[in-house]
Amino acid sequence: MTNIIKLSANDIAEKLNSGELTSVEVTQAFLDRIAAVDGTINAFVTVTADDALTTAREVDELRAQGATLHPLAGVPIAIKDVVVTDGVQTTAGSKMLEGWIPPYDATLVEKIKEAKLPILGKTNMDEFAMGSSTEHSAYGNTLNPWDTDRIPGGSGGGSAAALAAFEAPLAIGTDTGGSIRQPGAVTGTVGVKPTYGSVSRYGLIAMASSLDQAGPVTRTVVDAALLHELIGGHDPKDSTSLPDPAEGYVAAAQQGLTGDLTGVRIGIVKELTGEGYQPGVQARFEESINTLRAAGAEIVEVSCPSFTSALAAYYLIMPAEASSNLAKFDGMRFGLRVEPTEGPVTAERVMAATRGAGFGDEVKRRIIIGTYALSSGYYDAYYGSAQKVRTLIQRDFTAAFEKADVLVSPTSPTTAFKFGEKLDDPLAMYLNDIATIPANLAGVPGMSIPNGLSDDGMPVGFQILAPIREDARMYRIGAALESALEKQWGEPLINRAPELEAQA
Ligand code: GLN
Repeated sequence: MTNIIKLSANDIAEKLNSGELTSVEVTQAFLDRIAAVDGTINAFVTVTADDALTTAREVDELRAQGATLHPLAGVPIAIKDVVVTDGVQTTAGSKMLEGWIPPYDATLVEKIKEAKLPILGKTNMDEFAMGSSTEHSAYGNTLNPWDTDRIPGGSGGGSAAALAAFEAPLAIGTDTGGSIRQPGAVTGTVGVKPTYGSVSRYGLIAMASSLDQAGPVTRTVVDAALLHELIGGHDPKDSTSLPDPAEGYVAAAQQGLTGDLTGVRIGIVKELTGEGYQPGVQARFEESINTLRAAGAEIVEVSCPSFTSALAAYYLIMPAEASSNLAKFDGMRFGLRVEPTEGPVTAERVMAATRGAGFGDEVKRRIIIGTYALSSGYYDAYYGSAQKVRTLIQRDFTAAFEKADVLVSPTSPTTAFKFGEKLDDPLAMYLNDIATIPANLAGVPGMSIPNGLSDDGMPVGFQILAPIREDARMYRIGAALESALEKQWGEPLINRAPELEAQA
């Protein structure tokens, strides 16, 4: 019998189409898996079993009637809890929004509903998407299915862990500085941050509006391409949305699967490899480069000197934008309201009491940094300088893409670390994103694909960056590397994830 939960989304879609499986069977299989293991993994904040089964039944009926359906119709999906869902609690991982039921759907959720993908639930994350380990969630830690003493990455640890624990075949993440790609790297899954503006931000609870981008979290490159085509495209409700149609990604991935990369120039970013990268991560990276060379690619080295300042610039620009975006959580409009225990109940005092009780330490830290960086007198020295560095990073990308079609690096300098290891050291936590942040500052697309295990037995990720609007290139090269690696291993890496004990 087919083990439904281990199938890729594309395989499930084919089996739904051929009538070998029904969406109800598939959806139930994932709901059963969630019931069995999510008590341990805690990938989900909210599970919407009834809604998922209702959609699944609808798809099965429509298919029986011979209706034309979206290729992914009936394939279940999980959604990061920072994306608003009409009628379903959306917390952004914060106590501030506990119990908040949005009155509308994000554009990408509308698209998912129109295409009739059963929504399994909302996944756990660092509070307001701030973090690299999901330890900053108000809803408890999400555990890495490869080793439950270790973090699943962040901020989108819930979506990545749901995929790695076979609780969902597809998920949505958001990436402001790496929150799709880094969790992908440390859980052995695929994560794609599309070109900024490729997927609508309407209905994402904003962290840093000029950096945030939603994208696919999957187990294969083709699945990511399928999901990107579904959620992408122009949206008049998002003023930064690009006019481009979301197409050509699946075709590019399929072209990549043929394995021929003759004529493709791949640039190794000198500043994003070598020193500071865990030996096992660096070794897998070099092996993957050899694999790409064997597929016909030309390997060149490029230098992007400003990338060494990317982290510093990010940790000024991101908190500056976040401090402004989070001002709306004032105890009046959404979710939590805390009144002062003594003294007058004025708007300002309610706001202070609510924000004091509702926000966690990391969120408070960033609001303080952000308001400081934006304050008059310091604006030029901090925020203004960071914006200049951002321009230099964009120029580095432009120059590098003249020498190479795509740029590559390890996704994350280390494999998944143990819980608590970096929690009291914000700078050590921030360093996880050293290789992913430049893409957000420049708006370029990035992908992480699993490229082996380190000496500690934990998965490693390989990052591919492409020029703005050239997302198709990374699907092609990602799929080529994925298929070459699977041939070497004899199976997809994710199959080596330990079986999780089902709970009684
Ligand atoms: N880890 C980074 C941060 O803490 C990125 C977060 C994200 O991409 N949402 O800001």
